Amino acid sequence: MENINAANFIEEIINKDIESGKVKKVITRFPPEPNGYLHIGHAKSIFLNYGIARKYNGQFNLRFDDSNPAKEDVEYINAIYRDLEYLGIDYDEVHYASDYYDKCYEFAVKLIKDGKAYVCDLTADEIRETRGTLTEKGKNSPYRDRSVEENLMLFEKMKNGEFEDGSKVLRAKIDMSSPNINMRDPVLYRILHKTHHRTGDKWCIYAMYDFIHPISDALEGITHSICTLEFEDHRPLYDWVTENCGFENPPRQIEFAKLYLSETIVGKRYLKQIVESGQVEGWFDPRMPTLSGMKRRGYPKEALKEFCNKIGVAKTNSKVDLKFLHYCVRENLNLNAERAMVVLDPIKVRLTNYNKGSEILQIPLNPLNEEEKREISFSDELYIEREDFMVTPPPKYKRLIPGGVVRLKGAYIIKCNDYVLDENGNIVEILCEYIENSKSGNDESGIKAKGVIHFVDAKNCVNVKVNNFENLFIEGEDGLLKVNEESKTIYDNAKAEKYLLNTKEGNRYQFLRKGYYVTDKNENDIIEFNEIVSLKDGYKIV
Ligand code: ATP
Ligand code: MG
Repeated sequence: MENINAANFIEEIINKDIESGKVKKVITRFPPEPNGYLHIGHAKSIFLNYGIARKYNGQFNLRFDDSNPAKEDVEYINAIYRDLEYLGIDYDEVHYASDYYDKCYEFAVKLIKDGKAYVCDLTADEIRETRGTLTEKGKNSPYRDRSVEENLMLFEKMKNGEFEDGSKVLRAKIDMSSPNINMRDPVLYRILHKTHHRTGDKWCIYAMYDFIHPISDALEGITHSICTLEFEDHRPLYDWVTENCGFENPPRQIEFAKLYLSETIVGKRYLKQIVESGQVEGWFDPRMPTLSGMKRRGYPKEALKEFCNKIGVAKTNSKVDLKFLHYCVRENLNLNAERAMVVLDPIKVRLTNYNKGSEILQIPLNPLNEEEKREISFSDELYIEREDFMVTPPPKYKRLIPGGVVRLKGAYIIKCNDYVLDENGNIVEILCEYIENSKSGNDESGIKAKGVIHFVDAKNCVNVKVNNFENLFIEGEDGLLKVNEESKTIYDNAKAEKYLLNTKEGNRYQFLRKGYYVTDKNENDIIEFNEIVSLKDGYKIV
């Protein structure tokens, strides 16, 4: 355990705790509240906690922080398990905060007996009004000096369901004049007649997060309780709870900055709202910043890990450019994704002088590895992208025009001689000749084709559906982000080379000249792809 290089300020603290002998085995946890789906921000916390546990040869726990029965659901628990699997995270122990309800109750009773907690009859509004402000001290509750016996009796009655929701709470007796408002007799328990998804109707009082969280950490022997900055002001309370509950070697809370992404909203509450409003196709929508969405979008877990590592951990909040996430995804795919040709918006090309029937050409699976090849077929009927042919082209257009030449990727140079219009004046077919001795890798034609375009053999291809995406959020007129109604474009008549016929869900490709794509499904003769990220790199490394 010695001489481990600290990668950030958290690891520096851990190193000191190890050196001083305070910590023998590092134990961290990820404690999601199962009230929504995990998002990219959670991935940062997961990789951080998991990474530390593994680096220090310690332990990593998953804990469902299900301390609020009103908002939680098993659907979310299952989703969290799936998300961790996607990220490739294994955990040593799984716990539920609800498993600690009995223990928590015992600690509350201990605090009452020690004169450190009391039952208070003030309403929520009255508690807020007497709490004071940053500049003004709070006022003691008139119930603050109840006897231990009375408090024990009332707390038990609270537990037994003898009081209505909101009529009483258990409060810590700390200091109503503390400069830290969290220390002004914070509420530890409230009455809530709600069925909990795991404990059913056993409880009608529930511990507050600030009480059950440190207790859960301490019971599990967590050594470093890593959380986000908004809990910094709660740390004195965290320490008060573990100390006064009598834990001997309590966890140390360490805060770091949340991950915020530009052009992205990650708050569970907001995401839930857009799911419920039907503006997206659910939590799994590939445009969503949820981990379920990103998996479906085809983001490799290694790219997310790389992204989280590179942005690092800091003590001050900042926003990371969304383009940097795309950059990490693109870097990964450039190395790892196979290449394929798919025409999203097809128009037919007929080669009037090609009379070989068909032939098979070899092209590399990934240009970074010329050895591995795949076969593409070629015949006198091909598809090219509609936008790759123009009768009146703009300046600098290098693709196919009447009378012009272009190279078909991995195949031949073709020359356009004519085109066919339908009764509405739309182009339905382009008539070309191929240049026989211009085959890629063996070009003896002497003809210079400025442009290279992709194609698919029309006589040997598969119909596929391709979904292209724009950012899910755009800035509205008021400067706030809103859902971009035009963030999805469907190409349901796309043509892919035969090679993709047996593709499997989750396979990733670079569709030449188009972008990176992942197979969404291949079932019942329907093959569908989602765009992962475009080829263009909008991120500038400075
Ligand atoms: P949200 O407000 O986005 O719904 P949350 O904080 O309520 O998130 P929890 O389930 O309570 O979500 O969080 C589980 C863990 O993930 C906590 O330790 C929390 O600090 C961490 N976490 C949540 N959001 C982020 C983020 N944007 N960046 C880093 N860590 C985060
Ligand atoms: Mg939360």
